[in-house]
Amino acid sequence: MPQRFSDLAALRQCVAGWRHAGERVVLVPTMGALHTGHLALVAEARKIGRRTVASIFVNPTQFGPSEDFSRYPRDLEADLALLGQAGTDAAWTPDVATMYPPGFATRIEVAGLSEGLCGPFRPGHFAGVATVVTKLLNQVRPDVALFGEKDFQQLRVIQQAVADLDLAVEIRGVPTVREEDGLALSSRNRYLSPEERAAAPKLHAVLSDIASASRNGTAVAGRIAAGKAALEAAGFRVQYLAVCDARTLAPVERVDGPARVLVAAFLGRTRLIDNLAV
Ligand code: AMP
Repeated sequence: MPQRFSDLAALRQCVAGWRHAGERVVLVPTMGALHTGHLALVAEARKIGRRTVASIFVNPTQFGPSEDFSRYPRDLEADLALLGQAGTDAAWTPDVATMYPPGFATRIEVAGLSEGLCGPFRPGHFAGVATVVTKLLNQVRPDVALFGEKDFQQLRVIQQAVADLDLAVEIRGVPTVREEDGLALSSRNRYLSPEERAAAPKLHAVLSDIASASRNGTAVAGRIAAGKAALEAAGFRVQYLAVCDARTLAPVERVDGPARVLVAAFLGRTRLIDNLAV
């Protein structure tokens, strides 16, 4: 089992001891309900640092009023056991009152990167993410923090906030871990009915088709229209499917340099997101 901390002063004292001993500390922020994708981040953390901290905090401020905060899966004991098996040194498990005491008043907004893709469908989401991640980085003070490319817009938003605020931490992305049929692992996959689970890999298939058919100079509109039609035929309700500049996340009409194809779509009540490098 990792050492579990719910008290900020105790966590800080532990990490300060490691830093004093010259040990490199790597943070893996999570919302729990851990799966093999999260554990790939922990494995990467152990490769690049001497000490690994995983945080588990289901952050209320990144959920919209009609989203799944109250039914988001929580299983702390199972998570701690998995983190122990994966060799995590410490688990930071603050409660909501520790993170947001009465009178809490600050929000970090990352303009531009937060505004497209998931932004209009999840008002306030990325401000919630940027604020809680900035707090986690200041609480743990890691040398490096790892985030999954699965949440590519989130990764870019955090990189921007860290650069803009001169936070002394390196942010690294980790490739998406997938099921054998291509479905990206996600804590929300457990909401899928058997029929929905059978349809879900189409999301990755459509992204792969678009990514592999796109070269520099390729116009993307026709491929996106075909991809949307294929997803709708498989039962998805598509929020967006777009090819974007991999750095700015602005949609492109023609591939011209590093690009990413990104999608968000509902299967029944479950919202799935995924993306691939073009
Ligand atoms: P979450 O608990 O969903 O907030 O995810 C915690 C971290 O794990 C985030 O940095 C995610 O991007 C990352 N993550 C989630 N699913 C995957 C996956 N399938 N592969 C790699 N990283 C993932």
